[in-house]
Amino acid sequence: MKWITTFVILLHLRNHVTNADIEPIVLVHGGAGTISDDRIPGKYLGSKLAARVGYQVLMNNGSVLDAVEEAVRIMESDSNFNAGFGSVLNYEGFIEMDASIMDGKTMKAGCVAGVQDILHPISLARRVMDKSKHNFLVGEGMVKFAFSEGIEILSPPGQLVTQQAIDALEIWKENNARFDIGEGGTVGAVAIDKNGNIAAATSTGGVIGKEPGRVGDTAIIGAGTYADNNVAGISVTGDGDTIMKVALALDIVKRMDYLGNDINRAASDALDAMTTKLEGTAGIVAIDMMGNIGIAFNSKQMSWAYQRKNIIAYGVRKGEHLEELLPDEQVLDEIAND
Ligand code: ASP
Repeated sequence: MKWITTFVILLHLRNHVTNADIEPIVLVHGGAGTISDDRIPGKYLGSKLAARVGYQVLMNNGSVLDAVEEAVRIMESDSNFNAGFGSVLNYEGFIEMDASIMDGKTMKAGCVAGVQDILHPISLARRVMDKSKHNFLVGEGMVKFAFSEGIEILSPPGQLVTQQAIDALEIWKENNARFDIGEGGTVGAVAIDKNGNIAAATSTGGVIGKEPGRVGDTAIIGAGTYADNNVAGISVTGDGDTIMKVALALDIVKRMDYLGNDINRAASDALDAMTTKLEGTAGIVAIDMMGNIGIAFNSKQMSWAYQRKNIIAYGVRKGEHLEELLPDEQVLDEIAND
């Protein structure tokens, strides 16, 4: 009886943690994979910018959902990443993109897959969450929904295809490459606000040379994206055909929830378990309910960045943690008034 009482009290405490000390953060990734040295500066720049824009949205009274959506939109517009403009091509030379977004407060979610000729699949996923009765739309119905929501469908088609993506597919075919993630470049974001609200979002062009119609983990809640204010928010990148089999995002959250693991332990154990059992590697960015950050990958590299207060931290290689101090508001005011 005593045990039951203690358990109930603990549960009660856990659901009523006062989040007075939570420092807002926007944490992004720009994909797990093997990134050549000449491509690294573009990843640094793009992911730092995305974290900054997301953080700015949060500081200007935007919600965590607004922050992750905007951060992802920045990287969808940047051809240094495999999402939106500059997405990788499928075997037939077309772009098919997947995206999902989740609100940790309401556990509402929006998912889309096989998206063509839409620059910001993440905003389409957000509309599915906000405006449709469902979580996941695909195919003709998804296109009609996008149209009815005033989301631009680019015409003529193919405008998101870059020369770099065309060259990459050619090289991939010449090398008879198998379905691996190569450089990666999927994008994702997780944010927490001062009240402990968490959201997560992920967007991708998938894997190069994929069969038309293939859908990866990015579109799937519990695999590529997950958020629950009572535990954590997570965005995943890597070998999606493996990630979805172990529901990687949910595996990490449940390790934290049921085993009491901290975010980094849960992430590294889940990644190890996945790669030991199956082929394929992955990376994650995560924020727990107290605002602790998790950045983990067992791929060779993963680009990531976050802003907390006026510090921007970022990295690509294992163990790399670079930091820049941004001028705070007061300093900016002084400069403006000089
Ligand atoms: N997870 C993505 C997919 O399999 C690819 C990536 O993250 O690089 O579609």
